[in-house]
Amino acid sequence: MALTPLSDALATLLAQIDSTPQIEWVSLEAASGRYAAEAIHSTLSVPPADNSAMDGYAVRTGDLPAVLRVSQRIPAGSAPTALEPATAARIFTGAEIPDGADAVVLQEDAEQLDEGVRLPEAREGQHIRRRGGDIQPGQQLVAAGRYLRPQDVGLLASVGLDAVQVFQPLTVAVLTTGDELREPGSGDLVSGEIYNSNRFSLAAQIRALGMNVLDMGNLPDQPERIGDALERAAAEADCVITAGGVSVGEEDHVRGQIESRGTLNLWKLAIKPGKPLAFGEVCGTPVFGLPGNPVSSWMTFALVAKLWLIKRQGGVVFAPPRFAVRSGFAVARPGTREEFIRVSLEGSGTAMRATLTGSQSSGVLSSLSEADGVAVIGPGQTVAEGDWLDVIPMSALLSPEVA
Ligand code: AMP
Ligand code: MG
Repeated sequence: MALTPLSDALATLLAQIDSTPQIEWVSLEAASGRYAAEAIHSTLSVPPADNSAMDGYAVRTGDLPAVLRVSQRIPAGSAPTALEPATAARIFTGAEIPDGADAVVLQEDAEQLDEGVRLPEAREGQHIRRRGGDIQPGQQLVAAGRYLRPQDVGLLASVGLDAVQVFQPLTVAVLTTGDELREPGSGDLVSGEIYNSNRFSLAAQIRALGMNVLDMGNLPDQPERIGDALERAAAEADCVITAGGVSVGEEDHVRGQIESRGTLNLWKLAIKPGKPLAFGEVCGTPVFGLPGNPVSSWMTFALVAKLWLIKRQGGVVFAPPRFAVRSGFAVARPGTREEFIRVSLEGSGTAMRATLTGSQSSGVLSSLSEADGVAVIGPGQTVAEGDWLDVIPMSALLSPEVA
């Protein structure tokens, strides 16, 4: 079977999504971590009026330099009266500029005298924050599908909103498979066993996208039980994610069960780690069959399933940033697949170097946990020490905003 480039697989997968979740209102307190269901526009100007950026004196620049009587005091939150001719108004940060004033002189630049304050020349507009300088009426604040972050809910609050329409979070079922897997906390390993790690990393990746996890636990390598669990998961969740059992081994029953109880597409993705990937449907619910090796399942989730889930959630994604970084290692033999290499970053600026965090085997989680990012090496590409590499930061691979 020919290898499918990642971009081709993504294009096919994403094109199949034609619905978004139900919409609900949530209070602004509960909106961070949710996906906006509609574009949100401001009806107001922010700031609502010209105001002072500093503590000082509101003045008319035409009067300066001069010694001026202080005709009023304007703390933040009070309503000023028009500035009397040839006077200054004592003003504080955030207070409204009185009509007639066109600049603020810093208090540090003013000299207190018995008859008033001595003020130097001032530039028109200095230290004044203009009405609408942040937000204009009608301005779009967030686009439809935007994942709302703390700074976004702050922005929405700044125009007086206290509730927003968001998409209901998807429920994503996680199901691992393998007779060898023991759950952490269920006792010590006996010969042949390893602890189930994918169940935890996948659930955490899903939650990091603001979605709900339906934990189906681990299934032994028995076709009927795997098939039944797939159907139960499909009945309750918007999407089912399995790990393991999608290669061609005799004990790999997930793909067979997706096929016999629904429909299946099997891809050999041209990426390393993470070659086999099943995508299909059981009882009308989409199913991703990710590979079992812990780094492969993490990586195929981050590079493929995550994008699908965010689009299905109604979210919008941006291309992840890629930083040009000097390589601290060599790749002498060109590969046939696009390779995602776990690296840590040392140094700063143009002297930043990417070094391997350890073994790049698809079963080695410690080098993934150590990594600051992944270096992307194209098929057929070799790398010499000191070459420029493209590195995607780890935060981008986990982020609900970039794909
Ligand atoms: P499989 O795709 O089921 O053949 O699994 C490939 C490799 O990944 C085997 O070494 C498995 O033991 C390992 N593996 C599969 N699932 C998990 C899991 N949930 N946690 C840790 N390792 C796993
Ligand atoms: Mg297995």
